[in-house]
Amino acid sequence: MRIRFALLVLILATLASAQTKRSVQWEELTAAAFRDAIAESRGTCLLPIGILEKHGPHLPLGNDLINARAASLAAAQQEYAVVFAPYYFGQIFEARQQPGTIAYSAELQMKLLQETTDEMARNGCKRIIVVNGHGGNTNLLTYFAQTQLARPHDYVVYVYGGRDRSQTGPPHKTPIATDMHAGESETSLSMATRPDLVHQDRAASESGADQERLKLPPGLYTGIWWYARFPNHYAGEGAAGTKELGDFELNAWVSGIVQSIKAVKADNVSLQLQKEFYEKAQHPLDTRP
Ligand SMILES: [Zn+2]
Repeated sequence: MRIRFALLVLILATLASAQTKRSVQWEELTAAAFRDAIAESRGTCLLPIGILEKHGPHLPLGNDLINARAASLAAAQQEYAVVFAPYYFGQIFEARQQPGTIAYSAELQMKLLQETTDEMARNGCKRIIVVNGHGGNTNLLTYFAQTQLARPHDYVVYVYGGRDRSQTGPPHKTPIATDMHAGESETSLSMATRPDLVHQDRAASESGADQERLKLPPGLYTGIWWYARFPNHYAGEGAAGTKELGDFELNAWVSGIVQSIKAVKADNVSLQLQKEFYEKAQHPLDTRP
């Protein structure tokens, strides 16, 4: 009888803890739970951003969205933050010649980012970390962060596109310089997040080699550079990917996001400096050294 009672207590305690463990996903929360989630996260929200584009002959179109979300969700579970719904409205003009690419206009990319972060902030996300999962978004997101100074906002936009590189991982089998898109590292990462979507047996069916069709001196940029080098929208060798490297890469990403969430929660300087800046920008002639 006593054992049965102890078992009952254990079951009830497990149920209670399952109920109190709040989801980190915006779309899974009830309105009331969302209010509590914003309080628990101290207004810290993640906006993982991916893309829909070809990923070599062997990875899914939504690869970067899938991986950015996997890393963000794992990080938010370690250090609580609210994770925004799936978002893939980034920059990908350079893959428009490939099937399955969704390339929204530049104007819409910027407008949608601004309205999304404005709406997130109106709902209490005063610290927004955009977690980038797609290399082609890098300049867009930096530019978006810069444009936040154009008019006052009562929130701060941070962009995280890095990894925690404090640990040494398994050695790479292919040259890192050309392991850029659907190659060894990215294929490995997807083997860790969604192995069911990785068709590694097809990875060598197209070339991911640098075709070096355009010679320009260092520092001189043109938009067609990527197509000139990698017309198959594939850079590297996906066949070299391993689950071991993928687990390491995923951990490095999750750890980097966790560190970012902690730093952002502790950052009381950025918002205050933004306020001071917006105020001074109203009357620049009064600004003196
Ligand atoms: Zn990718």
